[in-house]
Amino acid sequence: MSKVIPLLDTRKPGSLPAPPASYRAPSGELADARGRAMRDLRISVTDRCNFRCVYCMPKEIYGADHEFLPRADLLTFEEITRIARIFVGHGVTKLRLTGGEPLLRRNIERLVEMLAKVPGVDLTLTTNGALLAKKARSLRDAGLSRVTVSLDSLDDATFRAMNDVEFPVEKVLAGIDAAAAAGLAPIKVNMVVKRGTNEGSIVAMARHFKGTGHIVRYIEYMDVGATNGWRMDDVVPASEIVRTIDAALPLEPADANYAGEVAERWRYRDGSGEIGVIASVTQAFCRDCTRARLSTDGKLYTCLFATDGFDLRALARDGTSDAALSNAIAAIWRQRADRYSEIRSDHTVPLKKVEMSYIGG
Ligand code: SAM
Repeated sequence: MSKVIPLLDTRKPGSLPAPPASYRAPSGELADARGRAMRDLRISVTDRCNFRCVYCMPKEIYGADHEFLPRADLLTFEEITRIARIFVGHGVTKLRLTGGEPLLRRNIERLVEMLAKVPGVDLTLTTNGALLAKKARSLRDAGLSRVTVSLDSLDDATFRAMNDVEFPVEKVLAGIDAAAAAGLAPIKVNMVVKRGTNEGSIVAMARHFKGTGHIVRYIEYMDVGATNGWRMDDVVPASEIVRTIDAALPLEPADANYAGEVAERWRYRDGSGEIGVIASVTQAFCRDCTRARLSTDGKLYTCLFATDGFDLRALARDGTSDAALSNAIAAIWRQRADRYSEIRSDHTVPLKKVEMSYIGG
């Protein structure tokens, strides 16, 4: 596990800017060192997963002897809700539960219920869909707004090779159907495209979901973490993905739904829906990045490609008041200057970045 900056240390004089004495949190007006607001909080609720996707949690690293976080290290639901409320006070409007596989966290519905009561938030969840058929209804009843389901191919052999646990496509599709029936729509379907692995599934995926109201989002394969052996040659650029789909199913550009939207939107010319492409490698969008990440054990990361986090759990567990916690979060955000994807190079790729399963995808 990478080094973690204990927040209390980083707050020694001269390290983090102290909030002004008159600082009144929450302000909702927080901006980082590059003028970016804080709008989204991704919360990793477990570092465990029932898949071993080759590009995320490869078996060679996450084998039977891999040590996941002990239970006592995980933020409790009460701690997550308390911290999330404080983030909302600073302008966050979207909470996303992720992991690891969030549906593996015991009683996840209870957490959804607690977070759904925080006023003014859009509460969503990203899942591999394996347990969705069973849980879609209870998640909806608990107050979840929508889900994003990851699915890298409709071709069973390709999908099984990518999840590396022999999980069949048909069960994920059943999960998507159950989510739609439960009202967790519009459903986004995330497909990570890796050269030589599943690029042959791009058009089939578009065709399958066209006209259903579900939105396929093609994601460029990224150099997250330090275990997936990423190479630039493995990336299929978003422009190529759009060209490939357009040749079979004509597309036209669509406007962003809101400033800073991660996916670039394209709609079918026949009016039967839309797709999105997330070009985090070839067209970095750091300039508009408003996302913060809370790791499974309560560290705040201000970039998906960060090597260090700030230990909010230590504060939450040592009797720190909400106001002081709020000030600490504000101070961290104000000094944020991350823009990894804009400066990615041969020198940055080998950095010891935290793993996505731990920080939350
Ligand atoms: N287990 C859940 C799931 O499968 O959706 C949530 C966690 S997963 C880390 C979140 C998303 O990150 C998934 O859509 C996954 O495909 C994507 N992801 C993981 N590693 C990636 C990589 N190296 N490049 C691009 N996307 C990646």
